[in-house]
Amino acid sequence: MEVSHRFWRKRDGRAGFTLMEMLIVVAIIAVLAAIAIPTFASRSDQAKEAVCQTNRQTLLGQLRYAQVIDGLTQEQADGIRDSLGAICPAGGTVTVEVGDTIRVSCSIHGGGSGGESAVSQGLIQDFRDFILNPEGVPSNEINRNDSLRTHFYEANGNKWPTLTVDGVEYQIEPYYSEAGKNAEDRLDYIWLFARQKTDGVVNGRWSVPLLYNPVDGIWYRSYGYDGKRPADASITFSSVEALDNAVKTTLCGNGSALKWRPVDSYTESN
Ligand SMILES: [Zn+2]
Repeated sequence: MEVSHRFWRKRDGRAGFTLMEMLIVVAIIAVLAAIAIPTFASRSDQAKEAVCQTNRQTLLGQLRYAQVIDGLTQEQADGIRDSLGAICPAGGTVTVEVGDTIRVSCSIHGGGSGGESAVSQGLIQDFRDFILNPEGVPSNEINRNDSLRTHFYEANGNKWPTLTVDGVEYQIEPYYSEAGKNAEDRLDYIWLFARQKTDGVVNGRWSVPLLYNPVDGIWYRSYGYDGKRPADASITFSSVEALDNAVKTTLCGNGSALKWRPVDSYTESN
């Protein structure tokens, strides 16, 4: 039986490809390779940049924590950076600047589009000073959420400090879990959160988009079940320890399935 192999035989019956067909195939492969190789390369670059940014964020959290606990010199900051080992997988040099803000930047990925991470130092320190020694405020008024927040608002000049994320301003407020009643325990039971701006002091709603973790010194943002859409989450934890545990395990308060993620870049102002 005669079978026609139209795709594999030339009309003259010889098996194989003509030179012209081979050249066309080689040319097509060359074009595809030219398209694909830069795509793979840029994906690899993006992965390195993401790792660099995550590592810089980790470093920033450690620097900030050290600053809050003991104060931080440039020399100490450089030492903490060095102790982390390689920060940028693309080989960039990571620089730390300690001043009014702590800046962590990479010589390759630094600057612009999340490359630089900066936080203000004064606000958190002011808050700690206020909590530990609130001048003229009776102890029992610090131990209550509504009066704590009213006094904090007044101590800041009858306005809330501001947190700016992605160009949007939020007001920063304290939350007191009411579990610790002694002055020396306060910092274990008080934390900061940020939410949409309101006029004055408004109480009673503890589901918010942004939360400050005093343990690692990083602002966290809450996301919905898919982990992508921002969604308000409860910040009514029992203690700072419980808060830290919750954001690290990416679960929000009260056992809900929402997720907390570190905020890459933000600024604070009083
Ligand atoms: Zn880098």
